[in-house]
Amino acid sequence: MIGRLADAVTRGLGDVTSTVTDVFDPTLRLGVTGLSRAGKTVFVTSLVANLIDRGRMPGFSAGGRIETAFLQPQPDDTVPRFDYESHLAALTAHDPHWPEGTRAVSELRLSLRVRPAGLLSGLRGNRTVHLDIVDYPGEWLLDLGLMEKSYDEWSARALGRLAAWNASDYEAVMQSVDPVARLEEPTVQKLARSYTAALRAARAAGAYDLTPGRFLLPGELEGSPALTFAPLPPGEAPRGSLRREMSRRFEAYKKQVVYPFFQDHFARLDRQVVLLDVLGAVRRGPRAVEEMRAAMTDILQAFRPGAIGWLMSLLGARRVDRILFAATKADHLHHSQHARLTTLLEAMVRDARSRADFAGAETKALSMAALRATVEEEREHRGEILPVVRGRLAETGRETALYPGELPADPAHLLVPARQGATDWLDGEYDLMEFAPAPLTLRPGEGPPHIRLDRAAEFLLGDRI
Ligand code: GDP
Repeated sequence: MIGRLADAVTRGLGDVTSTVTDVFDPTLRLGVTGLSRAGKTVFVTSLVANLIDRGRMPGFSAGGRIETAFLQPQPDDTVPRFDYESHLAALTAHDPHWPEGTRAVSELRLSLRVRPAGLLSGLRGNRTVHLDIVDYPGEWLLDLGLMEKSYDEWSARALGRLAAWNASDYEAVMQSVDPVARLEEPTVQKLARSYTAALRAARAAGAYDLTPGRFLLPGELEGSPALTFAPLPPGEAPRGSLRREMSRRFEAYKKQVVYPFFQDHFARLDRQVVLLDVLGAVRRGPRAVEEMRAAMTDILQAFRPGAIGWLMSLLGARRVDRILFAATKADHLHHSQHARLTTLLEAMVRDARSRADFAGAETKALSMAALRATVEEEREHRGEILPVVRGRLAETGRETALYPGELPADPAHLLVPARQGATDWLDGEYDLMEFAPAPLTLRPGEGPPHIRLDRAAEFLLGDRI
C-alpha cells in the first residue's frame, strides 16, 4: 500500500484529498496521440465503447475477467473531459457521422471492476483498475524540439520549412517590416497571422513537421500573446525592437506553453499509443510519406530519455514502458493487404522505434480500424478477381466499391522514392476515398465494429488488468 501511495504522490496527482480513494486502486494512464486527423477521437471513443461492451474484443485476454466497466469523474479537475457521449452519439446515430477531431488535450476515466486471476482467485475479491485516457495532439509533441533551440535557430529552420513548401506569402509580409524598428503590436499580429496561415497552407499541402504546434492547434490559447510571434532572419536586436520582442515571446512560449504541457500531461503517462494515417499519406504522395516519417522521428524524440533527459528528470517523469504504433483506417484495405500496411508502418517508424527500444520501452506496430466503415468483397474486373472494400462515401452518401491499388510487399518501393524527393508514385495512384461511418445495429454486449482494436487493447492494457 505504501508503494501505491508513493506511486500516487510521485505521479503528482495534485490535491491529495481528491485522490485519496484512488490511492488504493491501481491507475493506468494511457496517452493517445498522432497528428491531426490520424484518428485519435474515433480511437478513444471506440476503445471505451468496446471496453464497456466487450462482445467484439476476443483478442483482449483480460476482457473475460472484467465484471463491469464504467465512466467516472477524472482525477484532474482542470483538464477538459473527453466528450465521449457526444462522439459516440455521432458514430451510432441513425444517420451516423464522424465526430469533431482532437483540438486540444482532454481526459476520460474508465474504471474497470476486475475478477482476480490465478490460483487464489477464489479467495480474493474483485478489484478496481482506473484507466485514465489522455488524448492530445501530436503537433504539441513536435514542440519539444523547440526547448533546445534559440529564437534564431528556430527562425532559420522555420523559414527553411516554409521555403520548401512554397509559402511565399509570409516571405512577402516579412520583407515589408523592419526587424530593428520599434515594436508595434499590429505589426507583430500581422506577422503571426501570416505565419499561421502559411503553416496551414503547408499542412494542407502535406507538410507535417511544422512548429510551433499550437499555431496549428491552439487549444485554449487561441489569440493569446504567447501565440503572437513569428520567425525573422537573424540579425541585430536592439532593446525594444521587433526582433528582440519576437525572441522574448518565443522564450515565453517555451516556458509557459511547451514546458507545462510536458509537466502536466506527458510526464505522467504509463503507456502510449501513436496513431498514424499511413494510408492518407500514401494517397497524398511521396512528399507526404517522407514528411510523416520525418515528423514521427521528431515526435518520438519525446520518448527518448537521452535526448530530453534533462527535461524529464526535472519533471520527475515516469517512463512510458509500452508504445504502440498503429496505422489507422485499415478498413480502407481488404484484409489481404493489412500485413503490407503494417510492414510499411514498421519501416516508417524504424529509426524512432529503435531508439525507444533502446530506452527499454516495449514497442509494437499494427494496422487497425477503430471503427470499421466498410465490408469486404471480391469483384471481377476484366477477367481478374479484385479484393475490394465497399462503403458509403462521406461526400455523397453513395455506396461504392473501392480497390485502392496494391501496396508493395517491400516498403522500400515507397519509402526510397519518398526520401529521394519524388513527386509522384511510379506505379500510379493510390485511390483512397473517405467513407462515412456505416449505420449500426449493435446487439446487447457488443461495441462498435473495428479491426484489431482488441489486439491494441491487449498490448496496451492486458498485463495491467
Ligand atoms: P483526430 O484529429 O486524430 O482526432 O482524428 P479523428 O478521430 O477525428 O479522425 C479523423 C477522420 O479520419 C475521421 O473524421 C474519419 O473520416 C477518419 N477515420 C478515423 N478513424 C477511422 C476508421 O477507423 N475508419 C475509417 N474508415 N475512417 C476513420
